[in-house]
Amino acid sequence: MQDLEQFRLEVRQWLQDNCPESQRQPATPEEQYWGGRGGHFPSDDARLWFEHMRDRGWTAPEWPEAYGGGGLDPRQARVLKEEMKRIQARTPLYSLGVWMLGPALLEFGNEAQKQRHIRAIVNGEIRWCQGYSEPGSGSDLASLQTRAEDRGDHYLVNGSKIWTTSADKSDWIFCLVRTDPAAKKQEGISFLLIDMASPGVSVTPIELISGESEFCQTFFDNVKVPKENLVGELNQGWSIAKALLVHERKLMSELGSDSPRQQVAPTAAAREYLAFDNGRIADAQLRSDLVDYDMQMHAIGLTHFRCFEEKAAGVQSPAPLVMKYLGTEAEKVKSELLLAIMGSRGLGWEGDEFTAAELDTLRLWAMSKAMTIAGGTSEVQLNVIAKNVLRLPQS
Ligand SMILES: Cc1cc2nc3c(=O)[nH]c(=O)nc-3n(C[C@H](O)[C@H](O)[C@H](O)COP(=O)(O)OP(=O)(O)OC[C@H]3O[C@@H](n4cnc5c(N)ncnc54)[C@H](O)[C@@H]3O)c2cc1C
Repeated sequence: MQDLEQFRLEVRQWLQDNCPESQRQPATPEEQYWGGRGGHFPSDDARLWFEHMRDRGWTAPEWPEAYGGGGLDPRQARVLKEEMKRIQARTPLYSLGVWMLGPALLEFGNEAQKQRHIRAIVNGEIRWCQGYSEPGSGSDLASLQTRAEDRGDHYLVNGSKIWTTSADKSDWIFCLVRTDPAAKKQEGISFLLIDMASPGVSVTPIELISGESEFCQTFFDNVKVPKENLVGELNQGWSIAKALLVHERKLMSELGSDSPRQQVAPTAAAREYLAFDNGRIADAQLRSDLVDYDMQMHAIGLTHFRCFEEKAAGVQSPAPLVMKYLGTEAEKVKSELLLAIMGSRGLGWEGDEFTAAELDTLRLWAMSKAMTIAGGTSEVQLNVIAKNVLRLPQS
C-alpha cells in the first residue's frame, strides 16, 4: 500500500510535468485523437501529450512492456486513471485497438501477431474498426454470413458488415467470418484481421438523422486475406468474439467519464437552471428524480469498485455482467434528467444563443440511446443476466 501511495505521488508529479494545461479538460469529439495512418492531431499540445504518454507505454498502461505497454499492475493502472481524472487529463489516444482488439490479441494471438500488431496499437499507428454486425445478424450475431473460404495460402472473403463505426477512417478491421457453413452456427466462425487497403474492400458511410455518418457498411468482394491473419484456431472464433465483447461492454459501462457531458452533472445543472424554494428544488418530482439518480450512480460506482477488487483478487464474480446494462441505462436517465432540468435551454441544436454545453445536451441525449444498443442491446444484456447471473430457466 505504501508503494502504491509512493507510485501515486510519482504519477501526480509526472502528470504535472507532462500534461499540457490545454489537455486538462474534457475533449469534444473534434479534439479526440484516434491515431491511424490518416490520423491528425487536433493541436500541438494533443501531439505532445500523446507522445509523452506513448513513450511511457501509458496509452495501454497494463499491457506488457515487451510490446510497448506500460507494464502496470491493475492497482497501479487504477491509480493512473484516478490521477488523470483528478486533473481532467484527456485520454491521449482513442482506440478500438487499445480497448478491444489488443486485450483479445494478448490472450489469443500468436507471438508473430502480437509483435506485429500490439506495439502498432500502443503507438497509435493503426486505427482499427470492428466487423461483427451484419444486415440480419446483430443480437443474433452467431448467424453471421460473411464467409471466408480456404484457398490454399489465403482465405477468400465475401459478404458485408454493417454499423461498422468509422470504417471509412480505419486502416484494419477485426472481423468475424464463417469458415464452416455446415457446423453448428457458433462452431463455424473464425476471427480474422483484414487490412482495409486490400483489393475488394469497400466502405459506404450511412447518413444519420443528425447529418453525421459515423456508421458505415463494409463490403468484401473476393478479398484475399493471408492465412497468418487468422487469430486463434480455425472455427474457434466465437470464444474470441465473446472475450472481446467483455472488453467492449466494460468500456461502455464506464462511458461518459471523459465526455464534455460528464461536466454537466444533473445536480450542477439543477443549481443553474431550476427554481429553489427555501434551499430545496421547488419541483418535488424533479427533486425526487435527482435523488434517485444520485443514489443509483453511487451504487454503480461502488459496484465498479467491487468488480475491480474482485478481479484483482482473482475472484470469479457475475457483477461485471450487469455493468454494461446499468451504466448505459443510467446515462439515458441522466440525459432525460438534464433535458427536464434545462427545459428549452437543453433543446438547442445550433446557434450562438446557446452555450457549448447546452448545445451538447440534445446530441448526447440521442447518443445515450445508441449506447444501450451498441455492444449488445439492453434487452440482450437482460437475457444474459437472467441466464448467467440469476440462473433463471430458459424458454
Ligand atoms: C453507436 C453504435 C455503434 C456500433 N458500432 C458497431 C461496430 O463498430 N461494429 C459492429 O459490428 N457493430 C456495431 N454496432 C451494431 C450493434 O452491435 C448492433 O446494433 C446490436 O448488436 C443490435 O443488433 P441490431 O441492430 O441488428 O438489432 P436487432 O438484433 O435486430 O434487435 C432489434 C431489437 O430486438 C431486440 N431483440 C433482439 N433479440 C432479442 C432477444 N433474444 N430477446 C429480447 N430482445 C431481443 C433488441 O434488443 C432490439 O431492441 C453499433 C451500434 C451502435 C448503436
